[in-house]
Amino acid sequence: MTNPHADKIIDGKGFAEALRGRIGENVTRIKDAHGLTPGLAVVLVGDDPASQVYVRNKGKAAAEAGITATDHRLDDSTSQAELLALVEQLNNDPAVHGILVQLPVPNQIDPNAVIDAIAPGKDVDGFHVINTGRLATGQMTGPDAAMVPCTPLGCRMMLEDRLGDLSGLDAVVLGRSNIVGKPMAALLTQASCTVTIAHSRTKDLADVCRRADILVAAVGRPQMVQGDWIKPGAAVIDVGINRIAAPTEDDPNKMRLVGDVDFESAIEVAGAITPVPGGVGPMTIACLLANTVTAACRQNGIDPPVW
Ligand code: NDP
Repeated sequence: MTNPHADKIIDGKGFAEALRGRIGENVTRIKDAHGLTPGLAVVLVGDDPASQVYVRNKGKAAAEAGITATDHRLDDSTSQAELLALVEQLNNDPAVHGILVQLPVPNQIDPNAVIDAIAPGKDVDGFHVINTGRLATGQMTGPDAAMVPCTPLGCRMMLEDRLGDLSGLDAVVLGRSNIVGKPMAALLTQASCTVTIAHSRTKDLADVCRRADILVAAVGRPQMVQGDWIKPGAAVIDVGINRIAAPTEDDPNKMRLVGDVDFESAIEVAGAITPVPGGVGPMTIACLLANTVTAACRQNGIDPPVW
């Protein structure tokens, strides 16, 4: 049976495929016009299985878009000094325009020291404090513009695609992490929304969420946001990726992915909603590729594409 609410679903997977297509076209154009091939260096320290999957997927997606992706796999026992030396080498390599060090790193390495060592213009994750500052102060164009963290960037693209102009809308961002909540709030502020950041100490959380025309959930709590937390017609962006038990007769250990929003009750009330999986996740990788192309252009005095 077809879902009666199908038109409410924001198809992040399809949106990401289309964006990756545009990225590929731009890479070809930039190669033809300027002889420049964007390059992404992906660094993985240790053998965390989830990180290995992420790194493989990022490398594959980059190669498909025509970006040169180089993998740097370092042993689990790599020292901070060794990792910093590699980052320095990549900072100085003109063929590398984007550097991504997959987190988490092993305990002997301070992740902030590594992020601080990446040249801000090559920081395609957008985690360097210089990029955080540029985003917060609205420095979004020119050679020294902010690199914007990929997940919130993808969320904003989907929101603008669905809603058009966001100005004047009430936005609630649930979660205040440096990688999602805070940069999401900064982007929505730039888009002239009235932004509330909610977190674990927020009073009357459901009431706060019910005020939102745009509700972005990034808490890491499976299905926490219920349908009756949502204002009728609101746009709901579910960033959460949570694995929960979903046992069947055949497979008592079966797991499934859910978001931070209870999709079934939320879609009844929302005007638009991203599913999990197939919503925010695919956009995050696509935005990493977009950031790499943007970085390559800025480093070579070329106007970056408008994504
Ligand atoms: P963090 O754990 O860093 O931050 C979670 C935030 O949620 C914190 O600000 C915390 O508040 C708040 N929070 C936690 N519990 C509650 C609660 N019960 N009520 C209200 N607020 C609460 O998570 P991330 O931002 O890194 O990630 C959030 C989710 O997004 C995770 O599921 C993660 O897997 C997913 N994710 C998905 C990505 C994608 O590509 N789709 C990319 C990155 C993350 P406080 O600050 O007060 O502790």
